[in-house]
Amino acid sequence: MPEVVAFDEIKERRTRRDMPDGHFYNTPFIDHSQEYPHGPNAFMIESSENRILDTHFHDVDQFQIVVGGGGTLGRHVLAPHAVHFSRGFTPYGPLVSGAGAGVSYVTLRARQCPTGGAQRLPAFREKLEKMTGRQPWQVTGVPQFLQPSVDGIAMNVIDGLTDDRGLAGYALSMQAGTRTVSPGMHGGDGQYLVVLKGSLIHAGEEKKGIAIIFTKPQEGPMPIIAGPQGLQGLILNFPRPIDQASLTKSSSQGSPTAAPHDQLWQCELCAFAYDEATGLPEEGIPPGTPWEAVPHDWVCPDCSATKADFSAVEL
Ligand SMILES: [Zn+2]
Repeated sequence: MPEVVAFDEIKERRTRRDMPDGHFYNTPFIDHSQEYPHGPNAFMIESSENRILDTHFHDVDQFQIVVGGGGTLGRHVLAPHAVHFSRGFTPYGPLVSGAGAGVSYVTLRARQCPTGGAQRLPAFREKLEKMTGRQPWQVTGVPQFLQPSVDGIAMNVIDGLTDDRGLAGYALSMQAGTRTVSPGMHGGDGQYLVVLKGSLIHAGEEKKGIAIIFTKPQEGPMPIIAGPQGLQGLILNFPRPIDQASLTKSSSQGSPTAAPHDQLWQCELCAFAYDEATGLPEEGIPPGTPWEAVPHDWVCPDCSATKADFSAVEL
């Protein structure tokens, strides 16, 4: 049976932590490390305004969904309901909560992170550098909720949220009382449904948003029934985990060379790539800008690493 947890049922678990730069609330939704070895784990963070969570990484793949407020992640603007996916050992940040409402987000993991909290840079940089077989990667998708069609249901793929190991995301809109089934996992590591608005009917009970449902890989697609106000939510499929054994052999150690014909420069920490051919027009760097001409104080859009943390990639 998928695990279904609605905020209303567990709100007494919500705890406040005061920090030098404000405060945040943490509400644990799902945490069953005993029952299902190594996971899953889902929680919601509500941060007060203008707080900075330094660039950091975790040991496991994770989704983070903005459920309220906004802010920035690295150089990217975060708005509801942006979905950030990061592989294990991929630094991202800093995460800055916006003015006013701050930022609220849900973190979803198919497996428990063995080290727990954020491993911040630069303190944990050495850990990344010593690893072999790391495949850092991250992507942010913005779901588009479509008007339900004749059958009262719209399920729309979230652009960009895809990889060759089964990563997938869907924006789901359902009218009251309609039924559907979640998409297949294609060998992935488990599936979350996050009910953002309206409610889900599960085992005869109404589960109002925010509700979080985790389905294990062997459980297959889950039936979804929308409550009396309809349902708006996200379905997120975890990719198959990286086979560490096969990676250590095939991974290149990357011998950075700064030959003048190199056109692709990659962040050694998070794998963001700067392509001289396309530049970064959204940051005012026009196509065709050589690496040397990128401003010295420019930083990685995803993890805020400096230019010195990039190395040339042979095309
Ligand atoms: Zn980076």
